[in-house]
Amino acid sequence: MCIWAGDSRPVALRGRLLASDPPSVETADGRRVPVDGDEQVRGVLRDKRVIGSEFEVIGRLDADGVFRAAPIHENPLFVHRGGQRLYVTYWCDICAIRTRTPDLCWCCREETELDLRDRKD
Ligand SMILES: [Zn+2]
Repeated sequence: MCIWAGDSRPVALRGRLLASDPPSVETADGRRVPVDGDEQVRGVLRDKRVIGSEFEVIGRLDADGVFRAAPIHENPLFVHRGGQRLYVTYWCDICAIRTRTPDLCWCCREETELDLRDRKD
Protein backbone atom coordinates (compact mmCIF):
# COMPACT_ATOMS: atom_id res chain seq x y z
CA MET A 1 0.00 0.00 0.00
CA CYS A 2 1.23 3.49 -0.86
CA ILE A 3 -0.18 6.69 0.52
CA TRP A 4 1.25 10.12 -0.12
CA ALA A 5 0.40 13.33 1.64
CA GLY A 6 -0.72 16.10 -0.68
CA ASP A 7 -1.71 13.82 -3.51
CA SER A 8 -5.32 14.57 -4.42
CA ARG A 9 -6.03 11.28 -6.17
CA PRO A 10 -8.09 8.94 -4.00
CA VAL A 11 -6.12 6.06 -2.58
CA ALA A 12 -6.95 3.08 -0.40
CA LEU A 13 -5.98 2.74 3.23
CA ARG A 14 -6.28 -0.83 4.43
CA GLY A 15 -5.82 -2.43 7.81
CA ARG A 16 -7.56 -3.27 11.06
CA LEU A 17 -10.10 -0.70 12.28
CA LEU A 18 -9.23 0.21 15.85
CA ALA A 19 -11.59 1.41 18.59
CA SER A 20 -9.43 4.48 19.20
CA ASP A 21 -10.42 8.13 19.47
CA PRO A 22 -10.18 9.40 16.81
CA PRO A 23 -10.80 6.13 14.96
CA SER A 24 -7.72 4.78 13.24
CA VAL A 25 -6.62 1.99 10.95
CA GLU A 26 -3.62 -0.14 11.82
CA THR A 27 -1.84 -1.12 8.63
CA ALA A 28 -0.07 -4.42 8.05
CA ASP A 29 3.27 -2.73 8.77
CA GLY A 30 2.02 -1.58 12.18
CA ARG A 31 1.35 2.08 11.51
CA ARG A 32 -1.76 3.63 13.02
CA VAL A 33 -3.38 6.13 10.70
CA PRO A 34 -6.17 8.33 12.12
CA VAL A 35 -9.24 8.35 9.88
CA ASP A 36 -11.96 10.95 9.55
CA GLY A 37 -14.81 11.69 7.17
CA ASP A 38 -18.30 13.08 7.00
CA GLU A 39 -20.90 12.41 9.71
CA GLN A 40 -22.06 9.17 8.13
CA VAL A 41 -18.51 7.92 7.66
CA ARG A 42 -17.83 8.73 11.30
CA GLY A 43 -20.88 6.71 12.29
CA VAL A 44 -19.46 3.62 10.58
CA LEU A 45 -15.96 4.16 12.00
CA ARG A 46 -17.44 4.08 15.52
CA ASP A 47 -19.69 1.08 14.94
CA LYS A 48 -18.72 -1.78 17.27
CA ARG A 49 -19.87 -4.27 14.64
CA VAL A 50 -17.12 -3.24 12.21
CA ILE A 51 -14.39 -2.26 14.69
CA GLY A 52 -11.68 -4.91 14.66
CA SER A 53 -12.45 -5.86 11.06
CA GLU A 54 -10.02 -5.87 8.18
CA PHE A 55 -11.11 -2.51 6.84
CA GLU A 56 -10.54 -0.40 3.74
CA VAL A 57 -11.10 3.32 3.37
CA ILE A 58 -10.96 5.19 0.08
CA GLY A 59 -9.86 8.80 0.40
CA ARG A 60 -6.67 10.76 0.78
CA LEU A 61 -4.01 11.41 3.36
CA ASP A 62 -3.97 15.04 4.42
CA ALA A 63 -0.83 16.96 5.30
CA ASP A 64 -1.80 16.73 9.01
CA GLY A 65 -1.48 12.95 8.84
CA VAL A 66 -5.22 12.28 8.99
CA PHE A 67 -6.69 10.05 6.30
CA ARG A 68 -9.91 11.69 5.07
CA ALA A 69 -12.47 9.31 3.64
CA ALA A 70 -14.34 10.21 0.49
CA PRO A 71 -17.98 11.30 1.01
CA ILE A 72 -20.28 8.47 2.06
CA HIS A 73 -22.23 8.59 -1.25
CA GLU A 74 -19.03 7.52 -3.02
CA ASN A 75 -19.05 4.29 -0.96
CA PRO A 76 -15.57 4.76 0.54
CA LEU A 77 -15.81 2.03 3.20
CA PHE A 78 -15.25 -1.71 2.85
CA VAL A 79 -14.77 -4.70 5.10
CA HIS A 80 -12.58 -7.55 3.84
CA ARG A 81 -13.91 -10.88 4.98
CA GLY A 82 -13.41 -14.38 3.62
CA GLY A 83 -11.40 -13.06 0.67
CA GLN A 84 -14.18 -10.70 -0.34
CA ARG A 85 -14.28 -6.92 -0.47
CA LEU A 86 -17.65 -6.01 0.98
CA TYR A 87 -19.56 -2.74 0.99
CA VAL A 88 -20.59 -1.62 4.47
CA THR A 89 -24.36 -1.11 4.49
CA TYR A 90 -27.15 -1.18 7.03
CA TRP A 91 -30.51 -2.76 6.48
CA CYS A 92 -33.97 -2.44 8.00
CA ASP A 93 -35.73 -5.75 7.55
CA ILE A 94 -39.14 -4.33 8.43
CA CYS A 95 -39.13 -1.54 5.84
CA ALA A 96 -36.62 -3.05 3.37
CA ILE A 97 -34.62 0.19 3.56
CA ARG A 98 -30.84 0.26 3.08
CA THR A 99 -28.60 2.97 4.49
CA ARG A 100 -24.86 3.54 4.65
CA THR A 101 -24.46 4.45 8.30
CA PRO A 102 -25.60 2.89 11.60
CA ASP A 103 -28.69 4.66 12.84
CA LEU A 104 -32.33 4.10 13.60
CA CYS A 105 -34.37 3.41 10.48
CA TRP A 106 -35.84 6.75 9.37
CA CYS A 107 -39.15 4.99 8.71
CA CYS A 108 -39.92 2.67 11.65
CA ARG A 109 -37.27 3.95 14.11
CA GLU A 110 -35.97 0.44 14.74
CA GLU A 111 -32.23 -0.27 14.89
CA THR A 112 -30.81 -1.17 11.48
CA GLU A 113 -28.65 -4.27 11.01
CA LEU A 114 -25.13 -4.31 9.63
CA ASP A 115 -25.31 -5.91 6.19
CA LEU A 116 -21.99 -6.44 4.40
CA ARG A 117 -22.55 -6.86 0.68
CA ASP A 118 -20.44 -7.81 -2.29
CA ARG A 119 -22.23 -5.35 -4.56
CA LYS A 120 -23.39 -1.79 -4.27
CA ASP A 121 -27.14 -1.96 -4.91
ZN1 LIG B 1 -37.59 0.47 9.24
